[in-house]
Amino acid sequence: MSFIRSYLSDIPEKILSTFDCLSCLFDEFNFFCNSCDMPELPEVETVKVFLRKNVINEKTLSVKIVNKNLRFVINKDISKILSNSNITKIYRRGKYLLFLYDNEHTLLFHLGMTGFFRIERKYDFRKHDHLIFKFLKKKLVFNDVRKFGFVKIFKNKEIVNCSHLKNLGPEPLSSKFCYEYFKRNLNRKTNIKNLLMNQNFVAGLGNIYCSEILFRSNIKPTRPIRLIKDYEIYKIVNSVKEILLNSIKLGGTTIKNFVVSNEKIGYFKNELMVYGRNEMSCLKCKNKIVKITQSGRSTFFCTQCQK
Ligand SMILES: [Zn+2]
Repeated sequence: MSFIRSYLSDIPEKILSTFDCLSCLFDEFNFFCNSCDMPELPEVETVKVFLRKNVINEKTLSVKIVNKNLRFVINKDISKILSNSNITKIYRRGKYLLFLYDNEHTLLFHLGMTGFFRIERKYDFRKHDHLIFKFLKKKLVFNDVRKFGFVKIFKNKEIVNCSHLKNLGPEPLSSKFCYEYFKRNLNRKTNIKNLLMNQNFVAGLGNIYCSEILFRSNIKPTRPIRLIKDYEIYKIVNSVKEILLNSIKLGGTTIKNFVVSNEKIGYFKNELMVYGRNEMSCLKCKNKIVKITQSGRSTFFCTQCQK
């Protein structure tokens, strides 16, 4: 269900109905023009690396809810449960972030479309701030303009079986995501793009990377998966891993240059080969890139290179 909600969140009509100020409309316009800002696995991984460097083993003096309204209302007990405890570990699973505390609780974050963290020495209110973690010498702030992100608190022993995580497919960069796994799942009635987008098949891929992966694999996004040949499975699996690793590497480079400040983190521009390039010429064959809609979301591909 969580996947479906996140899946629906990309439908422009739904987004347009959520504008609450002109500056948001402007932000959103830029967002779509750039078409490269939505957090998927590499972006969430980059945020994880940043947070690990900055908030692990920092004592949480208090947690303040500035605005409880996210995709799910923030549990008001968060402040009580987490005050005076330490974040001992931070993990990523698919597009989720997990903060493990030393008091047997875990916070589960989803960045939605526009969720991001910033670190400040002194808190400086910004519109759309939702949560402030106060540490001894700094503050971690979660801000989310669109409010499709969320944070929930769980007991450590319950987190693995929570509805958000229990049905997630393998991590695409793990050895579990391989030719054999892919082959076992080809009996579904769907097309290749929707299969890759399905978080229960593989966790962490989103709209942008799916277009990129299929472009690199020379496979048309609408192709029914029963028509995917064996050698193409290898191509897809390899493309998934190569593209994600490269994007994480680029994100890592960005983070290295990031000094703790109040700058927005977690988003970096990567070099997209096909996503957002409709009407532009294909970087492989000069043919025009086309844009179609699949399950309410934009897909970009080259009719010449992708069959
Ligand atoms: Zn082409």
